[in-house]
Amino acid sequence: MKALVYHGAGKKFWEEKAPPQLIESTDAIVRIVKTTICGTDLHILKGDVPTVDAGRILGHEGIGIVESVGSSVRNIKVGDKVIISCITVCGSCRYCKRQLYAHCKDGGWILGHKIDGTQAEKVRIPHADNSLHRLPDGVDEAAALMLSDILPTGFEIGVLNGRVQPGHTIALIGAGPVGLSALLASQFYSPAHIIMIDTDDNRLSVAQQFGANTVINPAHQNIVEEINKITDGIGVDVAIECVGIPATFKICQDIITAGGSIANVGVHGKSVELHLEELWIKNISITTGLVNTSSTPMLLKSVQSGKISPEKLATHHYPLSEIERAYDIFGNAAKEKALKIVLTAE
Ligand SMILES: [Zn+2]
Ligand SMILES: [Zn+2]
Repeated sequence: MKALVYHGAGKKFWEEKAPPQLIESTDAIVRIVKTTICGTDLHILKGDVPTVDAGRILGHEGIGIVESVGSSVRNIKVGDKVIISCITVCGSCRYCKRQLYAHCKDGGWILGHKIDGTQAEKVRIPHADNSLHRLPDGVDEAAALMLSDILPTGFEIGVLNGRVQPGHTIALIGAGPVGLSALLASQFYSPAHIIMIDTDDNRLSVAQQFGANTVINPAHQNIVEEINKITDGIGVDVAIECVGIPATFKICQDIITAGGSIANVGVHGKSVELHLEELWIKNISITTGLVNTSSTPMLLKSVQSGKISPEKLATHHYPLSEIERAYDIFGNAAKEKALKIVLTAE
């Protein structure tokens, strides 16, 4: 089969690999129908994630058809169309018992990281009963693809951790795929005012189409002044950080109101300044996390009923065999106006 293989920093090839085999009785082999590229894959390619070995097939998002299952798999059948969760869930370890699937002792984020991933014609999925979600007929495939990672991430780590409530004024910092997913998911809770902050005017106009009431571009606007105008000078109830650099985490601290929540979603590569000398008196909470994907079944129902339309995040479509070109486009996302690139197997 063909697969996108990582060969050390800066190197990747679409090349021939041996097809995956069942190893454990709890495994399934899934033939990929659609996959996509994540910002995390670009971090790996930069060499930022040293736990990824050369020779690894990348990718942790996808939908596919189950080709074979191990003898202990009960809920998933050959021929099922499934969403592959970016988080592998054993279901029985200490963390899984607390629904902290991100930290599963025999799973967590391993796909395209510690084991071969989804940017391939086929993939082996461990603990298939808990790590795959059966996809009902009639659900848009591009929408379902967003349920592997980015929609649950925006919802769980942004909206739920940030405790968005009806009537809140919320600010999202970063209008990438995850920030826009958080924007979509925040509307389950009817916030009174949604503010999107980003330096890319194209992404800000997408955010407006997705329901943002106000957009702020710090390249030519003062964020604190604009937010003070909207909030009568008190700041926002929830700030959701979806970038992962010190400057954007500082913005959250500058705009949060007393009693508010800062929910960090961004992947940080270096330490940030925490202004406790100002925040200690403000009764705020700061949360962090890696997605558990415990919300995926609920989000799938919301997609199926048309309450949320994450397929809007799919801006580019290519055949799977053109994945190297897709990486080039995704690597120049601002110039190419790319959000999520959908790769479909022929
Ligand atoms: Zn991802
Ligand atoms: Zn576990």
